[in-house]
Amino acid sequence: MIGFGSETKGSGHPRPWGVTMEPVVPLTFEQARETVLRMVGSARRDVEGIAFTEAAGRVLAEDIAADRDSPAVARSVRDGYAVRAIDLPGDLQVIGEVRAGERFAAEVGPRQAVEIMTGAPIPAGADAVVMVEHTERGNGRVRIDGSAEPRQFINPRGCEARAGEVVLHAGARLDYSGVAMLAAFGRERVRVYTRPSAAIIPTGDEIVETGQAPEEFQIRNSNAWSLAAQVARAGGLARVLPVARDTEEHTREVVEAGLAADLLLLSGGVSAGKYDVVERVLAALGAEFFFDRVLIQPGQPLVFGRVRGKFFFGLPGNPASTMVTFEIFARAALERLGGQQEVALPMPYARLTREFRHRAGITRFLPARWSADGAEVTPVEWRGSGDIPAMTRANAYLVAEAERAEYPRGEWIRVLAK
Ligand code: AMP
Ligand code: MG
Repeated sequence: MIGFGSETKGSGHPRPWGVTMEPVVPLTFEQARETVLRMVGSARRDVEGIAFTEAAGRVLAEDIAADRDSPAVARSVRDGYAVRAIDLPGDLQVIGEVRAGERFAAEVGPRQAVEIMTGAPIPAGADAVVMVEHTERGNGRVRIDGSAEPRQFINPRGCEARAGEVVLHAGARLDYSGVAMLAAFGRERVRVYTRPSAAIIPTGDEIVETGQAPEEFQIRNSNAWSLAAQVARAGGLARVLPVARDTEEHTREVVEAGLAADLLLLSGGVSAGKYDVVERVLAALGAEFFFDRVLIQPGQPLVFGRVRGKFFFGLPGNPASTMVTFEIFARAALERLGGQQEVALPMPYARLTREFRHRAGITRFLPARWSADGAEVTPVEWRGSGDIPAMTRANAYLVAEAERAEYPRGEWIRVLAK
């Protein structure tokens, strides 16, 4: 059934298989995104153990706790002198030095100081560090003219994390700092969710493989490969299946092969044409449809549903539509299927370098150049959603809101990184 979310209402646009259903309004971008997140929910999956050196980009399947206080001793955060704040200003006796990787054996007494390096443990008796730049050294003594706050330039033991404290939660995707933390807390092996797999199914009688010499009326298969790259970037395993021909029999055969994966990504065959058989095939396999039209451009005839326990997207076939709809909808589903808790789609604001107008009512994701500092954005000229060269000139999408038709030059507009 077609509908918004789990409701089972009909669809407004003519069904190719001739079933009459009550009309339902197509979803806005926000409603469609919310539907994807709600339907996929938080999917549980298999777990594997890996070395921390392989963990970048993977999603944690366990909480990670600190194995000791961090730092394990109070440490200096500056090069300088460890002192008793109460002695300052003053002329102090230097009783030795302590470097990172050492412990100072004696105690700092009244009117005494220890030369200290960044990262070194604070000697007993000292309660502050004075930066070397604010000291004058000579004759085994150090003169400090300023005063010092107790605890200045000292990181107390456990101030970053306490032994046993959870520092990373299951469901977090590990970035480079996460890898650093595994290393810092001695986690040589870690449990992560297995990567989610996505079956990529290109469709269309006009599609030929890259190595083939196409006739003028044929098109090389590029969608399968942009999608494979996007799936890999989202942490998934892409399985590119053969191009499904525009017959129900062949499309069904390829879709059935795709059901081995966690997620199905079909490209093309979801418009209302006579040879757009994707929805018909999925319906015959018993699919539920959560939506099949979204008020976005590129990518309006976007289909999302579930068949035999697997979520699927029918992505519109034009290359830019396939790329955009993956980024704004399918990526979130894949990340959730990979056990990731937070799925973000940041769309910060930048200033338009020129005036921009569009027809309101549809959210548009148009190829754009984002300035190196992120402050400005300029639309890229393009010839519509088949224009792959224009997409390669873009490093972002300008997001024109459905409620707003005109953006003067210099106006703030949202931008989505490509
Ligand atoms: P469709 O929605 O099936 O009518 O596809 C729309 C258009 O997208 C087609 O006319 C092709 O130009 C293009 N297209 C579909 N599939 C692919 C593909 N795998 N690679 C590149 N372009 C495609
Ligand atoms: Mg087609």
